[in-house]
Amino acid sequence: MNTRSFDVVVLGGGSGGLAASFRAASHGAKVAMLEPAPLGGTCVNVGCVPKKAMWLAADLAERIALASQLGFDVPAAPQVAWPRLLQRRQRYIDGIHASYRQRLQDTGVAHIAQRGRLLDARTVECDDGTRLHAWHIVIATGSHALKPDLPGAALGGVSDDFFALQAAPARVAIVGGGYIAVELAGVLHGLGSEVTLLVRGQQLLSGFDSEMTAQMAENLRQQGIDVRFGCRVQALERHGGGIRALLQGGPADAVFDTVLFATGRAPSTHGLGLETAGVALDGQGAIAVDAFQNTSVPGVFAVGDVTAQAMLTPVAIAAARRLMDRLYGGQPDARLDYDNVPSVVFSHPPLGSVGLSEEQARARFDTVNTYHSRFRPMLQALGDGQVRTLFKMVCAGVDEKVVGIHLLGEGADEILQGFAVALKAGVTRRQMEDTVAIHPTSAEEVVLMR
Ligand code: FAD
Ligand code: NDP
Repeated sequence: MNTRSFDVVVLGGGSGGLAASFRAASHGAKVAMLEPAPLGGTCVNVGCVPKKAMWLAADLAERIALASQLGFDVPAAPQVAWPRLLQRRQRYIDGIHASYRQRLQDTGVAHIAQRGRLLDARTVECDDGTRLHAWHIVIATGSHALKPDLPGAALGGVSDDFFALQAAPARVAIVGGGYIAVELAGVLHGLGSEVTLLVRGQQLLSGFDSEMTAQMAENLRQQGIDVRFGCRVQALERHGGGIRALLQGGPADAVFDTVLFATGRAPSTHGLGLETAGVALDGQGAIAVDAFQNTSVPGVFAVGDVTAQAMLTPVAIAAARRLMDRLYGGQPDARLDYDNVPSVVFSHPPLGSVGLSEEQARARFDTVNTYHSRFRPMLQALGDGQVRTLFKMVCAGVDEKVVGIHLLGEGADEILQGFAVALKAGVTRRQMEDTVAIHPTSAEEVVLMR
C-alpha cells in the first residue's frame, strides 16, 4: 500500500483549503492538499468571481443606459454578446487557476487532485487508495446548493446551472429570497431576461434589517423584476419547450424558459468518513467546531462552509489562516472572531451590511437609536434614473456606540469596508459626526446621517 506522511493534510482546495495550505506552508509545515475539481472551489469557479463578472456586466449595461441620457452616443438599451462576456469571464478565472498552481509550486504544497476521506484521526485515504498520514487534518470541503423536495424539481437548476448558461433565457423564475436569489435576479434582468422572483416569505434576505430589505424589494420592482411574496412553488412540469410552475399564493401557474432554485446551501460532509473517524455533526448537518475550529476529534479541524458559520469566502480564509497561525505559527490564542462580519449582497445597487439590524439591536439593548440618509445619487439624478440610496446606522446605549451600518446604494460595496473597521473598533455616533465629510460623494452621507 502506498503511504505518504505530512504534517497536515487539507481536504478541499477552495477558499478555506487553499488559505490553510498556504499559511501552514509559510510556517514551514509539510502540507498535502486534496482537490479533485478546479482550484479555488465554489468562490472562484461557481460563486463570487464569475458572479461578480456578471454583476459588473449588468452594472455596465445600466450605466450605458444612463450615459445615453446624459447625451453620449450609445444605445439606451444596450445588448451584450454573451459568448464574448463568458470568454472574458473564463479568461479571468483561468488566470486565478494559473496563479494558484504557481503558488502551490512555490510554497511546496503537494496538490493531490483526488477526493479524500478520513480513515481515522491521523489518516486520509485518496480515491486511488493512497494513504496519507498527518498530525493534523483540516476539512474544508465547502457546501452545495439545495433544491426543495417537490415534484419536477429536476427541471429546475441551481446557481451552478446559472454559470453554465450561454445566453439570457427569455423568461426566468428564481425561487428564494436570499443572497443568491437577489443577486441572480438582478444580473439576469440586467443582461436581458424577464425575471420573476418567487419568495415564500414576506421579506427578502431574512435576518437583514427589514427597512433595508423593503427598499431592496422596491428597487427590484422599479427595475422591472416581478417580485412575488408569499408565493410557493408546488411542482414543476414540462410545458412545450418551457417549464410550467404550479404555484400557491398568487396566480395558479406560470410558464418560464428557465427555473433556478436559490433555496440555500448545505455543508458537504457526505463520503468524508466522518462517522468512521468519530467527527460529530451539529443539528444542521454541519461539522461541529468550537471557537478554535476544533472538531470533536483532537487533531481534526474544519473551516469554511462545511461548518456553516457565515458562508462567505473571507470568513473561510480568515478562519483557516488563524487556525494555521495557532498550529504552526506560535500563536496559541489565534482564532477568528465571528462577530461583526461585513458582507455585501450584489444587487443593483448593492446592499452592504455590518453588525446588527435594528430588530436585532432592539432585542439586545434597552436604548437604540437609528439614523438615516435617503437620497438620489448624483449620476442617477443627472441621468433621470430613479434608483435611490438608503443608508442606515443603528446605535446602542447612552454613548451611542454604532452597532449596525446598512448601506443600500451605488458604491455601497466599496464604501462599507472602511466603516466595518470603524464599527469593529467600537466607533460611536459622536465620532462619526466628528469626521469631516468628503464632498461630493455618496460616502459622505455615512457621516452625515440624521
Ligand atoms: P469551497 O470554496 O466550496 O471549497 C470546497 C472544495 O472542497 C471544493 O473545491 C470541492 O471540490 C472540495 N472537496 C469536496 N469534497 C472533497 C473531498 N472529499 N476531498 C477533497 N476535496 C473535496 N462569498 C463571498 O464572500 N462573496 C460573494 O460574493 C459570494 N458569492 C457567492 C455566489 C454564489 C453563487 C455562491 C454559491 C457562493 C458565493 N459566496 C460568496 C460564498 C463562497 O463561495 C463560499 O463561502 C466559499 O467558497 C467557501 O469556501 P470553502 O473553502 O469553505 O468551500
Ligand atoms: P440563503 O440562506 O441566503 O437564502 C435561502 C433562501 O431560500 C431564503 O429566502 C429561504 O427562505 C429560501 N428557501 C429555503 N427553502 C425554501 C423552499 N423550500 N422553498 C422556497 N424558498 C426556500 O441561501 P442562498 O442559497 O441564497 O446562499 C447561500 C449562502 O451563500 C448565503 O447565505 C451566503 O452566506 C453565501 N452567499 C454569499 C454571497 C455574498 O456574499 N454576496 C452571495 C451568494 C451566496 P426563508 O428566508 O423563508 O427561509
